[in-house]
Amino acid sequence: MIDALLEPSDLPHRLPRFADISIEDYGPAIEQGMAEQLAALTAITASAEEPTFENTLVALERSGERLDRVLRVFFSLLSADSDDDLDELHAAYAPRLAAHHDALLLDDALFARVNAVYEKRAELEGEDRYLVERYHRDFVLAGAALGPAEKARLRELNQEISGLEAAFGQAAQADSNDLAVVVDTVEELAGLTPGEISAAAAAAEGRGLAGRFLITLTLFTAHPYLSVLENRELRQRLFEAQLARGSRGNANDTRGIALDALRLRAEKAQLLGFDSYAGLVTADNTAGTPKAVRDMLERLASPAARNARAEQAALEASARSENGQSTIEAWDWPFYAEKVRVSEYDVDLAVLRPWFEADRVLRDGVFFAAGRLYGLTFEERPDLQGYHPEVRVFEVSRDGEPIGLFLLDLYTRDSKKGGAWMNSYVTANTLLGEPSAVVTNNLNVPKPAPGEPTLLTFDQVNTLFHEFGHALHGLLARATYPRFAATSVYRDFVEYPSQVNEMWMLWPEVLANYAVHHETGEPIPADVLGKLEASATFNEGFATSEYLAAALIDLAWHELGPAEVPTSPEAVEEFEAAALSAVGLDNPAVRARYYTAYFKHIFGGYASAYYSYIWSEVLDADTVAWFKENGGLTRENGEAYVRYVIGIGGTRDPLESYAEWRGRPAPIAPLLERRGLA
Ligand SMILES: [Zn+2]
Repeated sequence: MIDALLEPSDLPHRLPRFADISIEDYGPAIEQGMAEQLAALTAITASAEEPTFENTLVALERSGERLDRVLRVFFSLLSADSDDDLDELHAAYAPRLAAHHDALLLDDALFARVNAVYEKRAELEGEDRYLVERYHRDFVLAGAALGPAEKARLRELNQEISGLEAAFGQAAQADSNDLAVVVDTVEELAGLTPGEISAAAAAAEGRGLAGRFLITLTLFTAHPYLSVLENRELRQRLFEAQLARGSRGNANDTRGIALDALRLRAEKAQLLGFDSYAGLVTADNTAGTPKAVRDMLERLASPAARNARAEQAALEASARSENGQSTIEAWDWPFYAEKVRVSEYDVDLAVLRPWFEADRVLRDGVFFAAGRLYGLTFEERPDLQGYHPEVRVFEVSRDGEPIGLFLLDLYTRDSKKGGAWMNSYVTANTLLGEPSAVVTNNLNVPKPAPGEPTLLTFDQVNTLFHEFGHALHGLLARATYPRFAATSVYRDFVEYPSQVNEMWMLWPEVLANYAVHHETGEPIPADVLGKLEASATFNEGFATSEYLAAALIDLAWHELGPAEVPTSPEAVEEFEAAALSAVGLDNPAVRARYYTAYFKHIFGGYASAYYSYIWSEVLDADTVAWFKENGGLTRENGEAYVRYVIGIGGTRDPLESYAEWRGRPAPIAPLLERRGLA
């Protein structure tokens, strides 16, 4: 039934009627949604009336309602519960949807009307005025103000760039598969768990290498197995394989593709009036300019590098006493970091799992904190059906008034993509009469054997709090226009509320409430929190350095003009080295989290935006400091945070709202302190 996708559902809070949707419905529903939006846009531009806010901007906001409803379900399920058929459908519709979006933003008649309203924006105020300004910027940054020849060139560039990005992704993946490390004997794998060893055996068998073992590569330069593999030669082999991806001069060499994409992006930015692609990207983010980003990254670089050197000395001492080894190479770092963490701080995160039973963490931790801060209560609604039997549905109320639904999809399964994320199925906005929100959190926790409890790792508990921060943003934001509803904020701002919510995981009152041994009912040992706090900045010099190095590589490339981008693939390593040594991040034992040849983020959606994570952490650290100074987990604090941060969605400039709340912009000091860089 395509109506189940296009029409508002009659279930509580407009929870989509998942049971009535079948795979055949998506194609026709997307077609119809696009056709209806095009008809609505034609009606706007064909109007004989003078352009007004109402007949242009409001009409524009309404035009995508039904298509948006379809796509929210489609894209959410594409990540959470997909199969080959849905993936194929996506491959077929992705270029059509991109073209649909381009057609909207490059429609001359539509832009002329938006521009006419924009010229008279002084007559508007608040969210209305902000809506015109933001749409106007969308059109301008998409090239709507250019002449016909430039527009044609822009269309060409967009197409070529997206082709190069797709080629980069494929080549990087192919080379990564190719470079998986083959291991002959089980003895070499010492340090891995029996489960990891049998997975490696199965992976080898899958490639016709029965009897041997295969370690597949992961995204980060530092493979997670480097922290446990005892065999130094194997660590080195694994590290070098990770580093070699995309730069071996074979058919899967990504460097030429990367340079072409960078050159075309720079040309595109110039066409739009910017010095560089970083200028174009930051103009539509809270950072504003590449200089603001560079200043912040460089401010952090030298203290991070200095701390990493101090950490390195401790690791060297550990290696010396262990086996007389006198140097720490990049492939040794994670291994000795774990040794030092256990010996110096007595913190072994793995032993905490019995205190992290999933349902207790959820109800007595995550929900409990939200209750104290925001007056939220959660009632499970087994009568409401999610998109998969494993999805749990909770009705959320604020001070007793229902405000929406929270869907939790905890477990990993074949139909789900890796990682953790939040989606909105319904966003609260008054224009379309949507009073409440439907949000979901997805994690990838391995499902325990039947009858066994789900015991989370330390990182999984942290992820649950993090993703729930996004969910709170989606549930509590209130907007007039769909454009500004829920988490529709700038990319370099969107992680901030989720980062803030992580603070409650180890807040003593919250921790004491949920961290109870699943068998004995004993509270978590009293000294654990102290040890965690004492070890909080350990290895942060390394973590900050490897992140900053990647962010600076991303930024440095995108600061170039088209003529400055080198043409020879061999120039890539040289450029990276120069960019990093210029800021003191050239310690050979601490490598960048990603290098150009396998930096998928920046040849996909995160071009010139990898800085975002630490940019939003500046706000996060300042906010955490504020909560601590003001009594922590109180309703009063939660209310202020809703009023100025998560409650406003994208309805106004977020940094302006922040400065209004705190009486000043966020300083960098709390972040430096948190990471031990002060
Ligand atoms: Zn997040």
